[in-house]
Amino acid sequence: MIDTHSHIYGPEFAEDIDQVITRAQEAGVEKILLPNINAESIHPMLKLCERYAGYLYPMLGLHPTDMDKDFCSVLDDMELQLQGNHPYIAVGEVGLDYYWDRSLYDEQQEAFERQIEWAARYDLPLMIHSRSAHKELVNIMERHRSQELRGVFHCFGGTLEEAQELLSFPGFALGIGGVLTYKKSPLPEVLQSVPLSRIVIETDSPYLAPVPHRGQRNESSYAIDVLKKLSYIYKVSEEEVSERTNLNVMSIFSRLNVLV
Ligand SMILES: [Zn+2]
Repeated sequence: MIDTHSHIYGPEFAEDIDQVITRAQEAGVEKILLPNINAESIHPMLKLCERYAGYLYPMLGLHPTDMDKDFCSVLDDMELQLQGNHPYIAVGEVGLDYYWDRSLYDEQQEAFERQIEWAARYDLPLMIHSRSAHKELVNIMERHRSQELRGVFHCFGGTLEEAQELLSFPGFALGIGGVLTYKKSPLPEVLQSVPLSRIVIETDSPYLAPVPHRGQRNESSYAIDVLKKLSYIYKVSEEEVSERTNLNVMSIFSRLNVLV
């Protein structure tokens, strides 16, 4: 399987990152995709990707909760990196988060749209974060529908209606992680109406660890618990879930076919 969303370059892993990677490999995780969050996280992320070249792959983007007033200059610097040769497999993670803080309401949308333009201009998929912002997200996506974008709506945990709205964008899949394994999660029910061809596996490490690790630091090896639950829900073997979701990953993150 492929873990499509893991922040293992963060300080939570400073002590034992090599063991974390070894455990992921032993659990059958074939690749790990790393979403960036801000200007400061780029360097540690790239350093780790260099050390595990061919196993870890970086993205580039500014996370909506990591923005401040001068986000424009941060975005200017980031965009320079996308011009010419670069190692990034996606623009991410980007999007909208109105859960804690709506003070940068318009700025979040401005930054998101600018990064959507990068995806179109540099032919990259989007890793999209959305929290308490479904309506605004769909409105923005509609404005860009003709650009035939592709990507992942990461950490999906919404209703069937929301899933259907998001999947009306043909190049996109839902990122499914630990929330799927939680007792009160409506996701198993919602996924009854979502084909396997439209989902990818993720952990969102270090957050949202799946059962039986709930409450602990999440890590990529726990993707196996998400895989197991998907196999149970879709009534197909674990091998089939990983094969089919891997195909989705390779078609969305097309640079993975080129970068070794
Ligand atoms: Zn994330």
